[in-house]
Amino acid sequence: MKSGLRKRILVTGGCGFLGSHLCRRLLDDGHEILCVDNFFTGTKDNVVAMMDNPHFEIMRHDVTFPLYVEVDEIYNLACPASPVHYQFDPVQTTKTSVHGAINMLGLAKRIKAKILQASTSEIYGDPEEHPQTESYWGKVNVRGIRACYDEGKRCAETLFYDYYRQHRLQIKVARIFNTYGPNMHPDDGRVVSNFIVQALRGKPITIYGDGSQTRSFCYVDDLIEAFVKLMDSPDEFTGPVNLGNPEEFSIKELGEIIVRLTGSSSKLIYKELPSDDPTQRRPDIALAREVLGWEPTIQLEQGLITTIEYFERLLISQIR
Ligand code: NAD
Ligand code: UDP
Ligand code: UDP
Repeated sequence: MKSGLRKRILVTGGCGFLGSHLCRRLLDDGHEILCVDNFFTGTKDNVVAMMDNPHFEIMRHDVTFPLYVEVDEIYNLACPASPVHYQFDPVQTTKTSVHGAINMLGLAKRIKAKILQASTSEIYGDPEEHPQTESYWGKVNVRGIRACYDEGKRCAETLFYDYYRQHRLQIKVARIFNTYGPNMHPDDGRVVSNFIVQALRGKPITIYGDGSQTRSFCYVDDLIEAFVKLMDSPDEFTGPVNLGNPEEFSIKELGEIIVRLTGSSSKLIYKELPSDDPTQRRPDIALAREVLGWEPTIQLEQGLITTIEYFERLLISQIR
């Protein structure tokens, strides 16, 4: 055990991409993990290596329904994160963010647990301020196809701050920017996993629009470090705090890098840009640097190489 007391920690969405890495980290730090997931986008494969550990427990549960458990801390990650998946059943996506937040906040209130919300850079919508600081209020199309996610997450933040003010809850709000790495689902639909799988299969790399839109990609290990630092930050610090890698790339550049790193013969092809697709995104992480003493350490190419190796192993195991 690294430090302090063993805590009982609830991770909702614990079988997903970020959740599975977080469970591993917290388990390695010596804590007792309750991983709650309804397996909508997550899979037991992501946590199978932890399942024989007596300090790790999985519970199949949908956070839109009440949950009565006893823990010390809650990381609320349950919510599909890929546009393809969150647009599949948009009503359920909003319910997951809003009813899920109400239930987890109600739980935190009853048991006096500290609670961290996985919010998102999407709350800035298609931002006019660049890079985005936490003080920017955002530009979201309330009726658009991304609104189920964006507005759901915005409402969840509102609930977190109202429970904080009204019920004195200990809250932490992380605004996560595009994060990638092993354990992303190969059919997840997000750009990094799509491009790597396409490149490894020798299929065309599907660029939506002209590929000039930008994103800033954070490697998962860096983000998990920030989650833990945020949860352990002084009580008076609630966030919201941007967590992400401030290096910005166009989607076309990302496609070219992935083709080069995989040594693929795949060509870039251009498809229609989905509506409301943000044209630019880059976090200002001055606050995270100052309060958490955190900044990303893993550069894009380094993180992509590890992620490519993961998908290579996964695709080979699927052929067998
Ligand atoms: P993911 O889709 O891999 O994981 C989400 C997990 O939540 C899955 O295991 C899924 O089955 C589970 N889930 C979904 N609805 C649920 C429900 N109603 N009840 C219980 N479990 C449910 O996505 P991820 O990338 O790991 O994202 C985790 C969290 O981080 C999400 O809240 C997402 O909005 C947020 N986030 C992620 C990123 C990113 O780039 N990865 C960026 C911003 C925000
Ligand atoms: N809740 C939960 N687990 C608990 C306590 C509450 O899931 O241990 C849910 C319950 O569904 C409730 C919601 O959290 O409706 C909000 O709880 P809160 O106490 O804030 O409000 P109220 O019970 O008055 O609706
Ligand atoms: N994108 C793309 N090809 C793909 C998947 C995504 O060009 O196969 C683009 C998408 O239009 C967006 C960017 O890549 O501009 C990031 O998409 P992603 O779904 O990963 O996350 P977002 O940041 O849009 O939520």
